[in-house]
Amino acid sequence: MGIDASIRNQFPILDQQVNDRKLVYLDSAASSQKPLVVINAIDDYYKTIHSNVHRGVHTLGTRATDAYEGARENVRRFIQAQHHEEIIFTRGTTTAINIVASSYGMEHVEEGDEIVVTYLEHHANLIPWQQVAKRKKAKLKYVDLTADGRVTVEAVEAQLSDRTKIVAMAHVSNVLGTINPIKEVARLAHARGAVMVVDAAQSAPHQRINVTDLDCDFLAFSAHKMCGPTGVGVLYGKKALLNAMEPVEFGGEMIDYVGLEESTFKPSPYRFEAGTPIIAGAVGLSAAIDFLEEIGLENVEAHERELAQYAMAQMRDIDGLTIYGPEERVGLVTFNLGDVHAHDVATVLDMQGIAVRAGHHCAQPLMRWLGASSTARASFYLYNTKEEVDALVTGLRQTKEYFSHGF
Ligand code: PMP
Repeated sequence: MGIDASIRNQFPILDQQVNDRKLVYLDSAASSQKPLVVINAIDDYYKTIHSNVHRGVHTLGTRATDAYEGARENVRRFIQAQHHEEIIFTRGTTTAINIVASSYGMEHVEEGDEIVVTYLEHHANLIPWQQVAKRKKAKLKYVDLTADGRVTVEAVEAQLSDRTKIVAMAHVSNVLGTINPIKEVARLAHARGAVMVVDAAQSAPHQRINVTDLDCDFLAFSAHKMCGPTGVGVLYGKKALLNAMEPVEFGGEMIDYVGLEESTFKPSPYRFEAGTPIIAGAVGLSAAIDFLEEIGLENVEAHERELAQYAMAQMRDIDGLTIYGPEERVGLVTFNLGDVHAHDVATVLDMQGIAVRAGHHCAQPLMRWLGASSTARASFYLYNTKEEVDALVTGLRQTKEYFSHGF
C-alpha cells in the first residue's frame, strides 16, 4: 500500500474545523494522530480481552497476557531485536532513558568518567545524563555540530576517551530533522568500552530501525509519535546488560522470591516492569506498528521528505524567513519569520486552522547554539498533503503581512 488519500481518511480527528477553517495538523513530531485501526484495537481490547496479565489462570487473564506478550513480540520483530527479553514497555522515551541513566548510569559511571552527548539532544536525553554526571562527579562532554547543524563521526571521535562510559545521542533531531550516524558512533563507543544509548523518538515513527545492525546497547522510543497511544513506549536493551542492571522500580510482577528483609528479582523484561503493566498501551502500539508496516515505512519516509522539500522550496521565497538546519533532513522544518516571535507566528497560523509548534522544543542548548530564543516547527507525517503545505505557506505570508512592522 502506498500513500494516498485513503490513508488520511483513516484519521478521524483530521476531518474537523478549527477556528472555522479546515484543520491543518503540522505538529506530528510532538505527537502524531491515531488511525481508526489503533483506536479500534484499544477499544476491542477493553471490550473483549481486558484483565490483569501474568497471574490469572482464568481465560481473560490468559487472553490479556497473550495480547500483551504478543505486542512485545511484535515490537521485537519491528526493531529486529534478538530476544523478547530485550523489549521493555515504559511510559515513553523519557522514562526509558531515565531507566538507563538511573540504573546503568548510576552503577557504571565513576568519578572522573565521561558521558558524551551532543548539542542537539532533546532534554529527555540530556537531563538524565546531567544528573548522573552530577551525582557521580563525572564529566558531560558535548559533541560540536557542523555550521549547518550536523553531527559528524569525526566530531564524536574528538570527544571520546578511555574515560568515556556512555555515548547518548538522538537518532534524528526533533529540531533540525538531521539523521545522526548512529552505527558508526556505536562502533567508536564500543572501541572505547562505552555503551551507546539511542534516543529514537523521532526516527522510529518514520524509518526502519534495526537495533542488531545499529549494534546500539540501548534504544528508546514513544508510541504516541508513531500513530500509537500516549503513555507507552519502549526501552530496547541488550539482554546481558539488562539482566545485570538493578531494577529502578520495585513491587509486584518484578519479583521472584520475597523474604522479610530481602527479595530476588525476575530477569528482564519483567525486572523493569513493576506493577500492572501498560497492557492496552502495548496493544495499541502493536496495532500502530502493523498499520505503519502495511503502508511501508519507506513510503512514509519518502512522503514526508517530499513534503519537507516542497515546503522549504516555497518558504525560501518568503523574505526574512530563516530555515534552520541542512537541506538533507526528514519531514520537518524549523524556522523563524523575521523578528516575529515564534509564539506569535503559531498563534496567527492557529487562527487559520494550522497547527505548528513554537518554543524551544525541549532543546534549549540547541536553541542557544542556533542563536534563537524560540523557533516555529512544521512537522509532516503520512497523512499530510501538498495542499496543506500550500496552506502553511499562504498562512506564513499572511502572518508576515500581519506583523509587517517586523521586516
Ligand atoms: N527525544 C526526542 C528527540 C523527542 O522529540 C521527544 C518528544 N518530543 C522525546 C525524546 C521525549 O518523548 P516523550 O515525551 O514521549 O517521552
